[in-house]
Amino acid sequence: MRLVLLGKPGSGKGTQAPRVASSVGVVAISTGDLFRAAVAAGTVLGRRFKEFLDRGELVPDDLVLKMIEERLVEPDCKSGFLFDGFPRTVPQAESFELLLRGRKIPIDAVINLDVPDNVIVERAEGRRTCPKDGRVYHVKFAAPKVVGACDACQTPLVQRADDHRDVVKKRLEEYRQKTAPLLDFYQKRNLLKRVDGVGTLEEVGERVVQALQIISKS
Ligand code: AMP
Repeated sequence: MRLVLLGKPGSGKGTQAPRVASSVGVVAISTGDLFRAAVAAGTVLGRRFKEFLDRGELVPDDLVLKMIEERLVEPDCKSGFLFDGFPRTVPQAESFELLLRGRKIPIDAVINLDVPDNVIVERAEGRRTCPKDGRVYHVKFAAPKVVGACDACQTPLVQRADDHRDVVKKRLEEYRQKTAPLLDFYQKRNLLKRVDGVGTLEEVGERVVQALQIISKS
């Protein structure tokens, strides 16, 4: 299957993508992860990506498309893929459509995780991360055993800069302007499936897999 997972920043896409992809037997590709890997590798392109990532801005469409094109020819994409974080703008979706059409490999479905803004803000505001081992907690939904300390290494937990209320609101606004129009784009192509993204990790994952089973049977 060839799939795209859409949703607001903080809707749980990054958490669901690998789970859903493995349950349908395809590779999950996160463009955010690809960019971060290029930055870490210190390549020429990586240095250009870094400027945008550091400012929390979208990488220009032509650079994103170039990276997608290279990624699609990797052998693990042969049996399908699930994109998380791409496309993020209508021009990206249009170029992606042309690219896939040229290769005769159309998308099977686009899943959108529906989560209201207030839930996203609550999730982000309460999220705490261990700066040492990257473990993620939530003050209300997944509290550590000792308040403010990592269960595994007792390091004091921190709130990520992009989880602060103002930053979350800014990212939601950017999503509304640039990414939300994709819902209409894919709805018109009869590819969009909306899934309720409020619930436990398992509940939401199960809903997505069920939506995909309906598609593969139809
Ligand atoms: P993410 O991990 O999906 O939140 O992405 C982290 C950062 O990578 C974003 O803030 C953007 O700077 C960049 N990025 C990821 N995917 C895209 C995309 N499809 N188009 C433009 N920029 C992207």
